[in-house]
Amino acid sequence: MLEDKNKQRTSLAELGEFGLINHLTEHFKIYHNTTTKGIGDDCAVISDQKEILVTTDFLVEGVHFDLSYMPIKHLGYKAVMVNLSDVYAMNAEAKQITVSIAVSNRFPLEALEELYAGIQLACDTYKVDLIGGDTTSSTKGMIISVTAIGSAEKEDIAYRNGAQPNDLVVLSGDIGGAYLGLQVLEREKEVFKVNPQNQPDLEAYSYIIERQLKPEARKDIPKLLKELDVKPTSMIDVSDGLSSELIHICTQSKVGCNIYEEKLPLDPQVISTCEEFNLDSTTVALSGGEDYELLFTVSIKDFDKIKGNPNLTVIGHVTEENQGLNLITRANQSVKLRAQGWNSFNQEE
Ligand code: ADP
Ligand code: MG
Repeated sequence: MLEDKNKQRTSLAELGEFGLINHLTEHFKIYHNTTTKGIGDDCAVISDQKEILVTTDFLVEGVHFDLSYMPIKHLGYKAVMVNLSDVYAMNAEAKQITVSIAVSNRFPLEALEELYAGIQLACDTYKVDLIGGDTTSSTKGMIISVTAIGSAEKEDIAYRNGAQPNDLVVLSGDIGGAYLGLQVLEREKEVFKVNPQNQPDLEAYSYIIERQLKPEARKDIPKLLKELDVKPTSMIDVSDGLSSELIHICTQSKVGCNIYEEKLPLDPQVISTCEEFNLDSTTVALSGGEDYELLFTVSIKDFDKIKGNPNLTVIGHVTEENQGLNLITRANQSVKLRAQGWNSFNQEE
């Protein structure tokens, strides 16, 4: 976590804006023939026979990330992931991104090289084209804005408002890890402030720290659903926490849902770290964000196609709107779901 004082520091002013952009982006590959023109003109040009999907997100230093424990290469990777995740959450394919950055003079060229190394790794791994952006200075800190562009056949796009009563509620992967990884990193940051010589042993937390620092967007899920011949009736990515994403789907679809506590997919490291931090693992699963898993609903007729798939867990089912959103606990009690997760002190509702 110590800043390496021996590292080379080249001032951004030395290159000039054009030299800088060129230097940072020269090794990016173009994967899609729908990218007619990438970086280098007043606009990028793209073409597609399908529907085009566009999404954008800001990441602001001190609000969305903390460089004291987030390696800057990971930040570049994650900035791309959070946007690709939104495209996959529409059951679409991500093809292009733009990246805009504002940086203060605190950052040397070497920091931006690291940032772009993370962005490039994301582009190469997920096969997306960097086609443009903007570069400017900021008076304080770093701001990154990524826009992702994707495409899909009209009939394949999954919106938030299509869930129907009796549909199954399905989740990819497991949840709660990214939030707990952040708790571990925050704790180590406090220890480091008191004793900078202390070298933390984070082996026992490797999975959850990776979930926080290097999340992967679920590109595989739209592909898997296509192979299984399943069209989700609604879909969203889990960025703010399962409860609040369920609320989005149910509100927009005008339905309710029952979610079963015993079905929530948790990694063993999530369970053991919850015990250590004295946190309730169900609360963490419902309220912890940033897992970038996909939450979706499918018709009950498709149950045979998805059952037993190791990537997918059925966590509940959709009900009529007047039933509300409920967590069915292991003790078979029904508890109302709230945006902030399940508050165990409010069980009488
Ligand atoms: P303009 O003056 O037309 O805004 P710029 O000099 O800002 O053009 O950008 C030149 C080219 O470099 C454009 O294709 C732009 O999209 C691209 N670009 C600028 N900044 C970035 C960046 N941070 N990352 C990727 N591409 C960028
Ligand atoms: Mg510009």
